[in-house]
Amino acid sequence: MSTTVIPHWVNNEPLPRPSGREGEVFNPATGLASGRVPFASVQDVDLAVEAARKASQSWSTASIAKRSKVLFAYRDLVDRNRDAIARQLTLEHGKVLSDAHGEVQRGLEVIEYACGLAELTKGEFSENVSTEVDSYSLRQPLGVVAGITPFNFPAMVPMWMYPVAIACGNTFVLKPSEKDPSVTNLCAEYLRQAGLPPGVFNVVHGDKVAVDRLLEHPDVAAVSFVGSTPIARYIYETGTRNHKRVQALGGAKNHMVVLPDADMDLAADAAVSAAYGSAGERCMAISVLVCVGDAADKLVPKILERIGKLKVGDGLDPAAEMGPLITREHRDKVAGYVSAGVDAGAALLADGRALKVPGREGGYFLGPTLFDRVTPEMSIYSDEIFGPVLSLVRVPGYEDAVRLVHAHRYANGVAVFTNDGGAARRFQSEIQVGMVGVNVPIPVPLAYYSFGGWKASLFGDHHIYGRDGFRFYTRNKVVITRWPDPKHRGVNLGFPQHR
Ligand code: NAD
Repeated sequence: MSTTVIPHWVNNEPLPRPSGREGEVFNPATGLASGRVPFASVQDVDLAVEAARKASQSWSTASIAKRSKVLFAYRDLVDRNRDAIARQLTLEHGKVLSDAHGEVQRGLEVIEYACGLAELTKGEFSENVSTEVDSYSLRQPLGVVAGITPFNFPAMVPMWMYPVAIACGNTFVLKPSEKDPSVTNLCAEYLRQAGLPPGVFNVVHGDKVAVDRLLEHPDVAAVSFVGSTPIARYIYETGTRNHKRVQALGGAKNHMVVLPDADMDLAADAAVSAAYGSAGERCMAISVLVCVGDAADKLVPKILERIGKLKVGDGLDPAAEMGPLITREHRDKVAGYVSAGVDAGAALLADGRALKVPGREGGYFLGPTLFDRVTPEMSIYSDEIFGPVLSLVRVPGYEDAVRLVHAHRYANGVAVFTNDGGAARRFQSEIQVGMVGVNVPIPVPLAYYSFGGWKASLFGDHHIYGRDGFRFYTRNKVVITRWPDPKHRGVNLGFPQHR
């Protein structure tokens, strides 16, 4: 058992906690335990929320100059420490180092966007809405807000939340994934070094006990969640029942539609990169390939050729392109889906179940897997597998492809590959999915747009980060003012009219 403890973080320092429930953290490439993470009790969560509530009293009125300064300093610290953050990601998540660097970069972009808080928190002003009466609006912070995040982007997904929340003047309590928690503590330390006052950013590690306390705590005003759909639905329903503002982003089953006129080499590159990158553990991974007409016959050999060359290994190995899955249980679950696909009659063209990585026999590896002739009633089609398994469905025409996408309960991302501008334009307009790529397999919005799916991929009214993030973490106030003047005098019981 590892002796490294990853503590809660409250008031800019580790919270000492000698005993209680805890979990083990593993290096997925070796299968060896690398740390122990305490599971917060109700009392631990209350401590963190109380620290955040106290800090909120001054942070909510801290000047724009002060908040900007901290965010700019934090931005520099994350930029300078990319290597340390990326390495930590690889050690606990397993993704290859180059991919971990990509995660840091995309998180950094949201911090940079949040640095523009002076512009983004501006209200509106109207002079003379009535004679010598002015009106203006303010966007004010909510108070204490909480974030609950998944294992697959342990640095970036929290960065979708707390830089924006803090920029708006809120204080934050983060409950990161218990599977790869260390990077959160690293970022908490950088926030401290950036000059963030104690209590503005706090971390409680743990499981459902911590989450449930955050969902019911009277001092938590809003909850941002990213994770699987069943938990997202639970968070949304419980949080809103407790009168909190909630945005809950859920799971996905992203389709890539390939029309017969597409550039098949580009499509094959994209399908392989988007299906197997991060071992398929991305909510924007492509997990279904919908091939229209004869596209499959042209595409399948090209995909198989590329799969044959993929190097799977320890994420710290510079030659590795794909790392392990997050846990042994998850690897076994994914392997179970592959077996179910075979039993259901799909054609297994590449089978990653037997893969062994020399020197890493204890790692949670499963190689790139490809199914052809998948049909909608198979579980490999209907369920989010969250592993390196790509399912190919053959359909006769464009309308069949669109119908298929629309019939699926998830609607996070989708892509179309074609050289026909008219078809692409029609697709992006009519498709009922939140994020759309045209010859782009993973259309993750830039920080100055907002990220979010539709249907079972998102519960709530706001997408995350971008302008929607600033709206989510603030509430609107409208002020109408006038100054004493004889013309305003006189009793008038009528409803105010503007003159
Ligand atoms: P998860 O839903 O199991 O866990 C997410 C968070 O919820 C974790 O912090 C976890 O501790 C907590 N949690 C788990 N079970 C809980 C319960 N019963 N009650 C309360 N809290 C609970 O998700 P995961 O396995 O960590 O991450 C993978 C999932 O996240 C996939 O479904 C993926 O699609 C999704 N995801 C979605 C997006 C998006 O933007 N839509 C982004 C990343 C990941």
